[in-house]
Amino acid sequence: MTQDQSIEKIVIVGGGTAGWMTAAAMAKLIKKPNCTITLIESADIPTVGVGEATIPQIQLFNALLGIDENEFVKATQATFKHGIEFVNWKQNNHKYMHPFGTIGLNFEGVDFHHYWNKLNQTNQAGSIEDYAFNCVAAYNHKMMRSINVPNSPLNNIAYAFHFDAGLYAKWLRNFAEKNGVIRIENTVQEVKLDSKSGFINSVELADGQVVEGELFIDCSGFKGLLIEEALNTGYEHWGHWLPCDRAVVAPSKNVADPVPYTRSTAHGAGWQWRIPLQHRTGNGHVYSSRFMSDDEAKQTLLDNIEGQVLTEPRVVKFTTGTRRKHWNKNCVAIGLSSGFIEPLESTSIHLIQSSISRLMSLFPDKSFEKSVIDTFNSQTKLEVERIRDFIILHYKVTEREDTEFWRYCKNMEVPAYLEQKIKLFSQTGRIFRQDDELFNQSSWLAVMLGQGITPEAYHPLVDNLSLEEIRHRCDNIKKVIKESVERMPKQSEFINKFCRANLESV
Ligand SMILES: Cc1cc2nc3c(=O)[nH]c(=O)nc-3n(C[C@H](O)[C@H](O)[C@H](O)COP(=O)(O)OP(=O)(O)OC[C@H]3O[C@@H](n4cnc5c(N)ncnc54)[C@H](O)[C@@H]3O)c2cc1C
Repeated sequence: MTQDQSIEKIVIVGGGTAGWMTAAAMAKLIKKPNCTITLIESADIPTVGVGEATIPQIQLFNALLGIDENEFVKATQATFKHGIEFVNWKQNNHKYMHPFGTIGLNFEGVDFHHYWNKLNQTNQAGSIEDYAFNCVAAYNHKMMRSINVPNSPLNNIAYAFHFDAGLYAKWLRNFAEKNGVIRIENTVQEVKLDSKSGFINSVELADGQVVEGELFIDCSGFKGLLIEEALNTGYEHWGHWLPCDRAVVAPSKNVADPVPYTRSTAHGAGWQWRIPLQHRTGNGHVYSSRFMSDDEAKQTLLDNIEGQVLTEPRVVKFTTGTRRKHWNKNCVAIGLSSGFIEPLESTSIHLIQSSISRLMSLFPDKSFEKSVIDTFNSQTKLEVERIRDFIILHYKVTEREDTEFWRYCKNMEVPAYLEQKIKLFSQTGRIFRQDDELFNQSSWLAVMLGQGITPEAYHPLVDNLSLEEIRHRCDNIKKVIKESVERMPKQSEFINKFCRANLESV
C-alpha cells in the first residue's frame, strides 16, 4: 500500500444505529483533511427502530469516541444492565440469569465451577448465582462503577446499558456531524457499478444527484441495498437453527423503578424481552411464524406487558442468517445489511462495533488488496458463527416439550461446534473458549447450567482439596460478593446522583 493510493471518499448508505456508529467512529479515527465521509439517509425509509440492549463491550466504543458516560446515559434515557434473566426457558416456572462478569473465582489452577460442581453433588453448593457478583447485584437492583478496593469484585464491575435506540442514533449523528461527517437526506435510487471491475462507482439519489465514492459502507438495513441488491453477494440462511423470524414490539409505561437487567421470558413459540429504560420499558415478542400467527403473537405480548402500552404493537420481520461475504469488492456491509442472528443475547450492536473495529484495522487503500478483504471476511465469519452457536444453545438445551416449537428446538440438529461443546461440558464439565469467541467461559457456564445440563464429572484436580476446604473457600467467595453488593447503591440512587435524564427532553 502506498500513500498516494489512500481512500479519499467514503460513502455510508443508511442512518440507523449502524450508519451513525460507523460515521461517528470513522470521523473520530480518520483525521485526514483530504478524506470525506458522507452519510446518506432516507427520510422515507424508517430505521428498524429496535435494538436497545447491549453488552459490556459497548464501553470500548464509548471510550473510542471519548464520550462522557453520564452524558451518554442522560441523552439516551439509559439504564444499566448486569445481565439477562431467562424465565421459562429450561421449563415453565424456572428462571436463571446469564450475568456479565465472572462466576466464582478460580483457584489452584482449576476453574471455579468444578469445585461448585463437586459441592453440588452433595447438595452443599447452593445456587451458582450466589457466586456471580452481577447476579447478586442485579437481583438486589444495585449499580455502581468500579472502585479501587483490593481483592474485591468492586474492583472490576462489568456492566452494559439499555438505551433508547432512536435517541442513540440522534446522539451519534450529532457527534459525527460535529466531527465533519457530511449528511445527505435523500433516497438512493440506483447504484452504479464499474462495467469492468464490478466495483461501486457511485449512487444516484432521488433528486438526480450522483454521489461518487471509493469505499462504500452498506448500512441500509435488512435489504442490503449495496451488498445484495447491487452486488448479489448471497445470504446463508439459519432458520433451521434459529426458527424465530418475527418480532412484535410495543413500549409501555414503567410500573416501578427500572431493574438493572434485561428479562427474556420464553413463550410457546419464541420469547419476550423486557428492557427497562428511564422513561419507559421496551417490550417485544420474538416468535416463529411457522409456529404462531401474528395475531396470537401480538396477544401474547399484550397479555404479558406489565404497564400501560404506549403505541400500537408493530411487527418486524427478519431472516436469521449471514451475508456470504461481509466485504465484497469496495463495499463493506455493517449492521442488519450484513445479516442477523436474533436479539436474544443483544449482540447486534456489538457486531456493528466489531465490524467497524475490524475495518479500521484492515483499512484498505484504493488497491483493495484481496488478502485484506479475505481476512476481514474470514474473521467476521468466525465471530458471527460462534455467536450464532451460543444463541442456538438456548433453544436446543431445554426440557420443554409443551409446544410444537419447543419439541422442534429440542430435537433439531445443531452445528458440530456446538454439539461438541455441549458434549464436552455434559461429560466432563470442561468449557473451552475458541477462536477469540465473544462469549467467555462464564457465559457458556451460566447458560448451559441454566438450561439444564448437569455435568457428569468434575476436574480430577478438584480432589486435591478436601470437601471441607472447598466448602470453606466457596463460602468465602459468596460472603465477599454479598458484602460487596451491600455496599452498592440502588440503581435508582446511582442514576439520581450521576445521570438522571430530563424527561421533558423526550
Ligand atoms: C426485533 C429486533 C430486536 C433487536 N434488539 C436488539 C438489541 O436488543 N440489541 C442489539 O444490539 N441489537 C438489537 N437488534 C438489532 C439492531 O436493531 C440493529 O443492529 C441496529 O438497529 C442497526 O440497524 P441498521 O442501522 O443496520 O439498520 P436500520 O435501522 O434498518 O437502518 C437502515 C437505514 O438505511 C436507510 N436506507 C435504507 N434504504 C435506503 C435508501 N434507498 N436510500 C437512503 N437510505 C436508505 C434508512 O433510511 C435507515 O436510515 C434488534 C433487531 C431486531 C429486528
